[in-house]
Amino acid sequence: MAELATREREPAEILAFYAKAGTEALTGRARELCLERHGRRILLRGLIEYSNRCACDCLYCGIRRSNARVYRYRLEPEEIAALARKGYAAGLRSFVLQGGEDPAYAEAALPRAVEMIRESCPEAAITLSAGILDRAAYGRLKLVGADRYLLRFETSDPELHRSLRGGVGLGRRLEALVDLADLGYQVGSGYMVGLPGETEETRVDNALLCRELRLDMVGIGPFIPHGDTPLAGSPQSPIELTLRAAALVRLLLPDAHMPATTAAGSLDPEGREKMILAGANVLMPNITPPSAKRNYLLYPGKICLDEEGETCIGCLSLRMKTIGREISFDRGDAPRLGGQAKVGAGTDLDHEAAVPAAAPSSVPLAQAASSSVPAKEGAHA
Ligand code: SAH
Ligand code: SF4
Repeated sequence: MAELATREREPAEILAFYAKAGTEALTGRARELCLERHGRRILLRGLIEYSNRCACDCLYCGIRRSNARVYRYRLEPEEIAALARKGYAAGLRSFVLQGGEDPAYAEAALPRAVEMIRESCPEAAITLSAGILDRAAYGRLKLVGADRYLLRFETSDPELHRSLRGGVGLGRRLEALVDLADLGYQVGSGYMVGLPGETEETRVDNALLCRELRLDMVGIGPFIPHGDTPLAGSPQSPIELTLRAAALVRLLLPDAHMPATTAAGSLDPEGREKMILAGANVLMPNITPPSAKRNYLLYPGKICLDEEGETCIGCLSLRMKTIGREISFDRGDAPRLGGQAKVGAGTDLDHEAAVPAAAPSSVPLAQAASSSVPAKEGAHA
């Protein structure tokens, strides 16, 4: 395996290495490959947690609909755009707008926020993470200027997925990912590590599904049990499990952009550094105002709740220096686009059409989704 980093390997070979390698050897190999493909620079994405209202009741999540102890908020489009402008002035060229699944908000307020950011931050990449919406809603968001979308599949085990997501099946998530790829989004997905009921086989399948979907971005983080959810009291997996997962995904998907997640930093004070040393190449400074992010607790123990965005960027820069890396303000488009991603690509499309015609995408999500799910579960589950 000495030259793993310098040539593409078959999944079987990678899995054999994963199965027998200790964590140090595994993460070391992933780190080498990451350095080779992405260099020493760690891409920044400014995270805006715009709303904690959610129509879903995912068992694992602290802001699930049934958690009556959450103080609910929705930022106005103007507030979201102002946060992005502030981040833009600080140098950020990539923003992630994340919130609960809230179709009414996604219909009106979210497109307005995207439109305003597109106008005032012309060079910036806009990524959304707003859950499952219908294809027309994804289309409208693309038209007003969204470039990328993050929608984790959470777990590739269909039964576990359905039981954790209030009866909504894995097939529906994969269908949404197909819609996003068809519409020309750069697509990200991923999963939590250490969910109750997950096995080592699930973890391997999770990583293989990421490869099968040929994702542009993969988000992985430890599941952290929240006291106000039905999964309160579930065991906490060690950070090592997440590091092994990140390393495996890096080996299987050398080009994918992979964040060192806040959940990893919340579970272990050096969790993000450890993820970067296991193959991650992205960091997400949280630029949500403290008054809002305090109420966006998907899991307990979330870090940086009192910091303003600029402080987060400064802190991350210092943290990266301690591991010999440096932060980068590049947009960080998917390598498959060869650095040619068109700013606000969606805005050129015909506004008459409610949904843009399928934009070309090299992401064979449709194939992958149909080959991986129905064997275990119906596509419209
Ligand atoms: N509502 C959107 C985006 C917000 S949730 C969606 O669900 O896609 C973003 C991510 O937080 C989820 O995809 C899930 O993987 C993660 N998450 C939720 N609860 C968590 C927990 N208890 N521990 C760790 N990650 C969690
Ligand atoms: Fe809502 Fe996302 Fe939390 Fe599920 S994980 S309850 S969709 S915010």
